[in-house]
Amino acid sequence: APFQWIDVHDGLTSTLVMLSGKIGKGVRVVKDFDRSLPEIPAYAGELNQVWTNLIENALGAMGGEGTLTIRTGRNNDRVLVEIGDTGPGVPADLRERIFEPFFTTKPVGEGTGLGLDISWRIVANRHHGDLRVTSEPGDTRFQVFLPLTEQPE
Ligand code: ADP
Ligand code: MG
Repeated sequence: APFQWIDVHDGLTSTLVMLSGKIGKGVRVVKDFDRSLPEIPAYAGELNQVWTNLIENALGAMGGEGTLTIRTGRNNDRVLVEIGDTGPGVPADLRERIFEPFFTTKPVGEGTGLGLDISWRIVANRHHGDLRVTSEPGDTRFQVFLPLTEQPE
């Protein structure tokens, strides 16, 4: 499908609805949306795959207890979407490796290790954006930067 102009909040909200059955009672969901953001050119379905991967990872890391924060904002000429969780975090020595295909710390059968690889490729290759992580125990944030103006190929 060709790219289209989208409001990132639409995809984030529908992804949360889609995943609502997986969000346990012990998880608080905080939506901190900057509603003044302009629409961006994007492949909507592919971005929803990114939001799904990042939110599923956050929920998995928290194991049913904690706060999931979805924050949006403007960062110079880019839109920033940040998926935050209060789980144990990504150990410093793994922060590069988690984006490699098939890298997982989950038990066999529970993780493919492809979620972040696919997400990185959708963000970087398809949208000329950037996917980064900052992490300390109790405060992990996956940050997706998407250009406001540059058109995907
Ligand atoms: P999978 O979820 O199948 O393991 P991913 O590519 O989605 O594969 O993630 C790779 C690894 O990155 C995970 O196994 C986990 O070790 C780490 N990771 C991803 N997201 C988080 C997070 N929110 N908190 C802590 N670790 C994470
Ligand atoms: Mg995953």
